[in-house]
Amino acid sequence: MKTASFIQRSEGGHWVGDGFPVRTLFSYNDRPERFSPFLMLDHGGPTRFEPTAQRRGVGQHPHRGFETVTIVFDGEVAHRDSSGGGGTIGPGEVQWMTAAAGIVHEEYHGERFARTGGPFEMVQLWVNLPARDKMAAPAYQGITRDRIPEVALPGGAGLARIIAGELQGTAGPARTFTPMQVWDLRLKAGHSVTLPAAAGHTTAPLVLRGHLRLADGQEVTAGQMPVFSREGEDVQLEVLEDSTVLWLAGEPIDEPVVGYGPFVMNTETEIHQAFADFQSGRMGRIAAAA
Ligand code: MN
Repeated sequence: MKTASFIQRSEGGHWVGDGFPVRTLFSYNDRPERFSPFLMLDHGGPTRFEPTAQRRGVGQHPHRGFETVTIVFDGEVAHRDSSGGGGTIGPGEVQWMTAAAGIVHEEYHGERFARTGGPFEMVQLWVNLPARDKMAAPAYQGITRDRIPEVALPGGAGLARIIAGELQGTAGPARTFTPMQVWDLRLKAGHSVTLPAAAGHTTAPLVLRGHLRLADGQEVTAGQMPVFSREGEDVQLEVLEDSTVLWLAGEPIDEPVVGYGPFVMNTETEIHQAFADFQSGRMGRIAAAA
Protein backbone atom coordinates (compact mmCIF):
# COMPACT_ATOMS: atom_id res chain seq x y z
CA MET A 1 0.00 0.00 0.00
CA LYS A 2 1.19 3.54 -0.73
CA THR A 3 1.33 6.02 2.14
CA ALA A 4 0.93 9.81 1.93
CA SER A 5 4.33 11.58 1.78
CA PHE A 6 2.75 15.00 2.36
CA ILE A 7 -0.54 16.87 1.98
CA GLN A 8 -0.45 19.64 -0.62
CA ARG A 9 -2.75 22.65 -0.33
CA SER A 10 -3.00 26.06 -1.92
CA GLU A 11 -1.33 29.05 -0.28
CA GLY A 12 -3.81 31.58 -1.65
CA GLY A 13 -5.71 32.62 -4.71
CA HIS A 14 -5.42 34.86 -7.75
CA TRP A 15 -7.42 35.64 -10.86
CA VAL A 16 -6.68 34.32 -14.34
CA GLY A 17 -7.99 37.10 -16.58
CA ASP A 18 -11.31 38.38 -15.22
CA GLY A 19 -13.06 35.01 -15.45
CA PHE A 20 -11.25 32.51 -13.29
CA PRO A 21 -10.63 32.96 -9.56
CA VAL A 22 -8.19 30.13 -8.91
CA ARG A 23 -6.08 28.59 -6.20
CA THR A 24 -2.87 27.00 -7.44
CA LEU A 25 -2.28 23.62 -5.81
CA PHE A 26 1.17 23.15 -7.36
CA SER A 27 3.26 24.56 -10.18
CA TYR A 28 6.39 23.69 -12.17
CA ASN A 29 8.23 26.50 -10.36
CA ASP A 30 8.50 24.50 -7.14
CA ARG A 31 10.24 21.09 -7.27
CA PRO A 32 8.15 19.82 -10.18
CA GLU A 33 9.56 16.28 -10.00
CA ARG A 34 7.16 15.63 -7.10
CA PHE A 35 4.11 15.91 -9.36
CA SER A 36 5.47 14.72 -12.72
CA PRO A 37 3.98 14.13 -15.31
CA PHE A 38 1.73 16.96 -14.08
CA LEU A 39 3.13 20.51 -14.18
CA MET A 40 0.47 22.73 -12.63
CA LEU A 41 -3.01 22.57 -11.17
CA ASP A 42 -5.35 25.53 -10.75
CA HIS A 43 -8.62 24.95 -8.90
CA GLY A 44 -11.17 27.53 -10.06
CA GLY A 45 -13.95 28.23 -7.56
CA PRO A 46 -16.17 26.93 -6.19
CA THR A 47 -17.82 30.32 -6.50
CA ARG A 48 -20.90 32.02 -7.93
CA PHE A 49 -21.10 34.47 -10.80
CA GLU A 50 -23.90 36.97 -11.26
CA PRO A 51 -25.54 37.24 -14.69
CA THR A 52 -23.60 39.54 -17.01
CA ALA A 53 -23.44 40.71 -20.61
CA GLN A 54 -19.67 41.08 -20.18
CA ARG A 55 -17.28 38.55 -21.70
CA ARG A 56 -15.37 37.14 -18.73
CA GLY A 57 -12.19 35.14 -19.19
CA VAL A 58 -8.75 35.40 -20.67
CA GLY A 59 -7.95 36.52 -24.22
CA GLN A 60 -5.47 35.17 -26.75
CA HIS A 61 -2.26 33.77 -25.27
CA PRO A 62 0.21 31.05 -26.29
CA HIS A 63 1.42 27.75 -24.83
CA ARG A 64 4.23 25.39 -25.85
CA GLY A 65 5.65 22.13 -24.55
CA PHE A 66 2.72 20.55 -22.71
CA GLU A 67 -1.06 19.98 -22.62
CA THR A 68 -3.75 22.00 -20.83
CA VAL A 69 -6.66 19.97 -19.49
CA THR A 70 -9.76 21.86 -18.37
CA ILE A 71 -12.33 19.93 -16.34
CA VAL A 72 -15.62 21.68 -15.57
CA PHE A 73 -17.62 20.73 -12.47
CA ASP A 74 -20.08 23.66 -12.50
CA GLY A 75 -20.67 26.41 -15.04
CA GLU A 76 -19.45 26.57 -18.61
CA VAL A 77 -16.10 27.25 -20.32
CA ALA A 78 -15.64 28.18 -23.98
CA HIS A 79 -12.37 27.80 -25.81
CA ARG A 80 -10.97 28.59 -29.27
CA ASP A 81 -7.47 27.92 -30.53
CA SER A 82 -5.16 28.39 -33.49
CA SER A 83 -5.28 24.68 -34.41
CA GLY A 84 -8.95 25.24 -35.31
CA GLY A 85 -10.07 23.54 -32.10
CA GLY A 86 -12.83 24.99 -30.03
CA GLY A 87 -16.00 24.30 -28.14
CA THR A 88 -18.04 24.98 -25.04
CA ILE A 89 -18.05 22.49 -22.19
CA GLY A 90 -20.31 22.20 -19.17
CA PRO A 91 -20.43 20.19 -15.93
CA GLY A 92 -18.70 16.82 -16.24
CA GLU A 93 -16.96 17.72 -19.49
CA VAL A 94 -13.31 18.13 -20.45
CA GLN A 95 -11.15 20.04 -22.92
CA TRP A 96 -7.83 18.31 -23.50
CA MET A 97 -5.66 20.69 -25.50
CA THR A 98 -2.24 19.62 -26.76
CA ALA A 99 -0.19 22.78 -27.14
CA ALA A 100 3.01 20.85 -28.02
CA ALA A 101 4.91 22.87 -30.69
CA GLY A 102 2.76 25.91 -30.04
CA ILE A 103 -0.81 27.08 -29.91
CA VAL A 104 -2.61 30.36 -29.30
CA HIS A 105 -5.94 30.12 -27.49
CA GLU A 106 -8.57 32.05 -25.55
CA GLU A 107 -10.65 30.86 -22.60
CA TYR A 108 -13.95 32.46 -21.60
CA HIS A 109 -17.12 31.65 -19.71
CA GLY A 110 -19.72 30.08 -21.99
CA GLU A 111 -22.20 32.65 -23.35
CA ARG A 112 -25.24 30.97 -21.87
CA PHE A 113 -23.63 30.66 -18.44
CA ALA A 114 -22.57 34.33 -18.53
CA ARG A 115 -26.20 35.34 -19.23
CA THR A 116 -27.70 33.23 -16.44
CA GLY A 117 -24.87 33.24 -13.89
CA GLY A 118 -24.71 30.52 -11.25
CA PRO A 119 -22.27 28.20 -9.51
CA PHE A 120 -18.83 27.82 -11.08
CA GLU A 121 -16.10 25.28 -10.42
CA MET A 122 -13.35 23.94 -12.65
CA VAL A 123 -9.85 22.55 -12.63
CA GLN A 124 -7.11 23.35 -15.11
CA LEU A 125 -4.32 20.79 -15.12
CA TRP A 126 -1.11 21.13 -17.14
CA VAL A 127 0.30 17.80 -18.32
CA ASN A 128 3.94 17.67 -19.37
CA LEU A 129 5.11 16.15 -22.63
CA PRO A 130 8.32 14.14 -22.90
CA ALA A 131 11.13 15.92 -24.79
CA ARG A 132 10.50 13.80 -27.89
CA ASP A 133 6.90 15.11 -28.14
CA LYS A 134 7.27 18.76 -27.08
CA MET A 135 7.37 19.88 -30.72
CA ALA A 136 4.57 17.55 -31.89
CA ALA A 137 1.61 19.01 -33.79
CA PRO A 138 -0.97 20.85 -31.65
CA ALA A 139 -4.33 19.14 -31.19
CA TYR A 140 -7.64 19.53 -29.39
CA GLN A 141 -9.90 16.92 -27.81
CA GLY A 142 -13.33 18.11 -26.72
CA ILE A 143 -14.58 15.38 -24.40
CA THR A 144 -18.32 15.60 -23.84
CA ARG A 145 -20.21 13.96 -21.01
CA ASP A 146 -21.58 11.04 -23.04
CA ARG A 147 -18.02 9.96 -23.98
CA ILE A 148 -16.82 9.55 -20.36
CA PRO A 149 -17.62 6.05 -19.10
CA GLU A 150 -18.72 5.44 -15.51
CA VAL A 151 -17.42 2.51 -13.50
CA ALA A 152 -19.19 1.30 -10.35
CA LEU A 153 -16.69 0.88 -7.52
CA PRO A 154 -16.75 -2.42 -5.58
CA GLY A 155 -19.12 -2.71 -2.62
CA GLY A 156 -21.29 0.27 -3.59
CA ALA A 157 -18.48 2.73 -2.68
CA GLY A 158 -19.52 5.08 -5.48
CA LEU A 159 -18.50 5.58 -9.06
CA ALA A 160 -15.54 6.65 -11.15
CA ARG A 161 -15.87 8.69 -14.33
CA ILE A 162 -12.89 7.66 -16.44
CA ILE A 163 -11.39 10.62 -18.34
CA ALA A 164 -7.98 9.08 -19.02
CA GLY A 165 -6.39 5.74 -18.21
CA GLU A 166 -8.20 2.58 -17.28
CA LEU A 167 -10.05 1.20 -14.27
CA GLN A 168 -11.58 -2.28 -13.95
CA GLY A 169 -11.14 -2.84 -17.68
CA THR A 170 -12.83 0.41 -18.75
CA ALA A 171 -10.67 2.98 -20.57
CA GLY A 172 -11.25 6.72 -20.74
CA PRO A 173 -11.50 8.65 -24.03
CA ALA A 174 -8.50 11.01 -23.65
CA ARG A 175 -5.48 10.24 -25.81
CA THR A 176 -2.32 10.83 -23.77
CA PHE A 177 1.38 10.78 -24.69
CA THR A 178 2.49 8.98 -21.52
CA PRO A 179 0.61 6.61 -19.16
CA MET A 180 -1.70 8.40 -16.71
CA GLN A 181 -5.01 8.08 -14.91
CA VAL A 182 -7.42 11.01 -14.61
CA TRP A 183 -10.67 9.98 -12.91
CA ASP A 184 -13.58 11.95 -11.44
CA LEU A 185 -14.52 9.95 -8.32
CA ARG A 186 -17.85 10.28 -6.52
CA LEU A 187 -17.44 8.39 -3.25
CA LYS A 188 -20.14 7.35 -0.77
CA ALA A 189 -19.90 7.99 2.95
CA GLY A 190 -19.44 4.93 5.13
CA HIS A 191 -17.46 2.96 2.54
CA SER A 192 -13.81 2.10 2.09
CA VAL A 193 -12.28 1.85 -1.32
CA THR A 194 -8.93 0.55 -2.55
CA LEU A 195 -7.85 2.16 -5.80
CA PRO A 196 -5.14 0.70 -8.02
CA ALA A 197 -1.95 2.79 -8.18
CA ALA A 198 1.29 1.66 -9.80
CA ALA A 199 4.63 1.40 -8.01
CA GLY A 200 6.99 4.11 -9.27
CA HIS A 201 4.17 6.38 -10.40
CA THR A 202 2.99 9.72 -9.02
CA THR A 203 -0.36 9.46 -7.21
CA ALA A 204 -1.91 12.79 -6.13
CA PRO A 205 -5.70 12.90 -5.82
CA LEU A 206 -7.33 16.30 -5.18
CA VAL A 207 -10.30 16.36 -2.78
CA LEU A 208 -12.90 18.77 -4.21
CA ARG A 209 -15.54 18.12 -1.58
CA GLY A 210 -16.09 15.79 1.31
CA HIS A 211 -13.92 14.20 3.96
CA LEU A 212 -11.69 11.13 3.76
CA ARG A 213 -9.36 9.17 6.03
CA LEU A 214 -6.12 7.76 4.63
CA ALA A 215 -4.69 4.36 5.61
CA ASP A 216 -2.23 6.05 8.02
CA GLY A 217 -5.10 7.78 9.87
CA GLN A 218 -4.57 11.28 8.40
CA GLU A 219 -7.78 13.00 7.32
CA VAL A 220 -8.21 15.20 4.26
CA THR A 221 -10.96 17.60 3.24
CA ALA A 222 -11.85 19.91 0.35
CA GLY A 223 -8.87 21.70 -1.21
CA GLN A 224 -6.31 19.17 0.00
CA MET A 225 -4.19 16.85 -2.11
CA PRO A 226 -2.45 13.91 -0.44
CA VAL A 227 0.69 13.10 -2.44
CA PHE A 228 1.53 9.42 -2.07
CA SER A 229 4.86 7.65 -2.02
CA ARG A 230 6.26 6.43 -5.32
CA GLU A 231 6.91 3.09 -3.60
CA GLY A 232 4.14 0.62 -2.98
CA GLU A 233 0.97 -0.14 -4.88
CA ASP A 234 -2.62 0.96 -4.39
CA VAL A 235 -4.27 3.57 -2.20
CA GLN A 236 -6.89 2.95 0.43
CA LEU A 237 -9.46 5.63 1.27
CA GLU A 238 -12.11 5.55 3.99
CA VAL A 239 -14.99 7.83 3.01
CA LEU A 240 -16.23 9.80 6.04
CA GLU A 241 -18.59 12.09 4.05
CA ASP A 242 -19.81 11.88 0.46
CA SER A 243 -16.78 13.08 -1.49
CA THR A 244 -15.75 14.24 -4.95
CA VAL A 245 -12.11 13.49 -5.75
CA LEU A 246 -10.12 14.25 -8.89
CA TRP A 247 -7.81 11.25 -9.11
CA LEU A 248 -4.45 12.12 -10.73
CA ALA A 249 -1.76 9.52 -11.25
CA GLY A 250 0.86 8.80 -13.86
CA GLU A 251 4.31 7.74 -14.87
CA PRO A 252 6.84 10.47 -14.03
CA ILE A 253 8.74 12.07 -16.92
CA ASP A 254 12.30 12.10 -15.62
CA GLU A 255 13.64 15.05 -17.66
CA PRO A 256 14.66 18.64 -16.82
CA VAL A 257 11.76 21.11 -16.51
CA VAL A 258 12.53 24.69 -17.55
CA GLY A 259 9.47 26.88 -17.72
CA TYR A 260 8.57 30.52 -18.06
CA GLY A 261 4.91 31.59 -17.94
CA PRO A 262 3.02 29.75 -20.68
CA PHE A 263 6.01 27.78 -22.00
CA VAL A 264 7.51 24.66 -20.38
CA MET A 265 10.50 23.07 -22.10
CA ASN A 266 13.73 21.27 -21.13
CA THR A 267 16.32 24.07 -21.58
CA GLU A 268 16.66 27.88 -21.35
CA THR A 269 17.51 28.02 -25.06
CA GLU A 270 14.19 26.37 -25.90
CA ILE A 271 12.34 28.96 -23.77
CA HIS A 272 14.03 31.84 -25.65
CA GLN A 273 13.08 30.13 -28.92
CA ALA A 274 9.46 29.81 -27.73
CA PHE A 275 9.23 33.58 -27.09
CA ALA A 276 10.81 34.32 -30.49
CA ASP A 277 8.47 31.92 -32.28
CA PHE A 278 5.38 33.35 -30.56
CA GLN A 279 6.40 36.96 -31.28
CA SER A 280 7.01 36.21 -34.94
CA GLY A 281 3.57 34.56 -35.29
CA ARG A 282 4.85 31.01 -35.73
CA MET A 283 2.37 29.67 -33.13
CA GLY A 284 -0.51 30.71 -35.38
CA ARG A 285 -3.52 32.82 -34.68
CA ILE A 286 -7.18 32.25 -33.98
CA ALA A 287 -9.31 32.41 -37.12
CA ALA A 288 -11.88 35.23 -37.15
CA ALA A 289 -15.33 34.03 -36.07
CA ALA A 290 -17.47 33.14 -39.08
MN1 MN B 1 -4.23 28.99 -21.51
